[in-house]
Amino acid sequence: MREVIRLESVKKYYEVRSGLLGSKTLKALDGVTLSVGMRETVSVVGESGCGKSTLGRVSIRLLDVTSGRVLFKGVDISKMKEEELREQSFRKKMQIIFQDPYSSLNPFMRLGEIVAEPLEIHGYGKEEIRESVSRALEDVKLVPPEEFVNRYPHELSGGQRQRVNIARALVLGPEYIVADEPVSMIDASSRAEILLLLKSIRDQRGMGVLYITHDIATARYVSERIAVMYLGEIAETGLTTSVLKTPIHPYTILLLNSVPEPDPNNRRRRRLVIKGEPPSPLNPPSGCKFHTRCPIAMERCRAERPVLREYLPGHFAACHRAEEIISGAVSVA
Ligand code: SF4
Repeated sequence: MREVIRLESVKKYYEVRSGLLGSKTLKALDGVTLSVGMRETVSVVGESGCGKSTLGRVSIRLLDVTSGRVLFKGVDISKMKEEELREQSFRKKMQIIFQDPYSSLNPFMRLGEIVAEPLEIHGYGKEEIRESVSRALEDVKLVPPEEFVNRYPHELSGGQRQRVNIARALVLGPEYIVADEPVSMIDASSRAEILLLLKSIRDQRGMGVLYITHDIATARYVSERIAVMYLGEIAETGLTTSVLKTPIHPYTILLLNSVPEPDPNNRRRRRLVIKGEPPSPLNPPSGCKFHTRCPIAMERCRAERPVLREYLPGHFAACHRAEEIISGAVSVA
């Protein structure tokens, strides 16, 4: 599969003031390697603060990297200046859909104007703008488009507003889209629809999608591959089917076990809660960053950082006890 985006050993560090004693380094991303193919969705899953949104923003150069490379179809864009990104059309080819469908739309603009704005910024002509807006609204099923172009955001439901955001992201014909928790703020009944819509648009247009979510259950339905992140690192990654069927990293196992079954009366429902809050990324634990919450941590885990290794075909995990977990010699949950 042809890659549209590739991150190589990407680090994103921030210097944060810390009391009178100077500054500390916040390692939002600490050496992440990940790719997204054309017509592929990769889910990035983790708790808030794990670095997943930073990863999305770095991948479209909304944030600069501290080190490492970001490649768009093989071209290193990590050091490109803003003008170059625009001139070479990378800005058009990479778009983001934000989480909040309420605050991301200007309440004083009509939908037609909202969707047309990116085209105007890029200097498109009137006729082209009219056609592209119409096509984007049709793609997100706000039909017939002529009925929607004159409406204002307050006249729409949360799900419809998120469709407008998607149309706005699509209108420049991107090849890669970051969808940052696109359904977490809309009502449950519209979530599946929006996710299916994204998937069908991806297939029609042949785009790559990075789907960022805290909810591993939704990742199951939309993505071919999953990357589970913990404190700025990838703990486990592989084909969605393999990661969900045979999770290796204790963090993934606990995440999966804490997903409630749909039926609240189901007695067999498993509800394991991962103990404690994630540690501060300003002061991450030594060795394996998950050792403070891992039920099977051992001495080596506190001292030595595990590296990602392939344990099953195309399925990688960073855990010293991966082999024992796979063989069943040790159980996490
Ligand atoms: Fe747990 Fe150790 Fe594996 Fe980290 S390396 S996840 S602490 S067993």
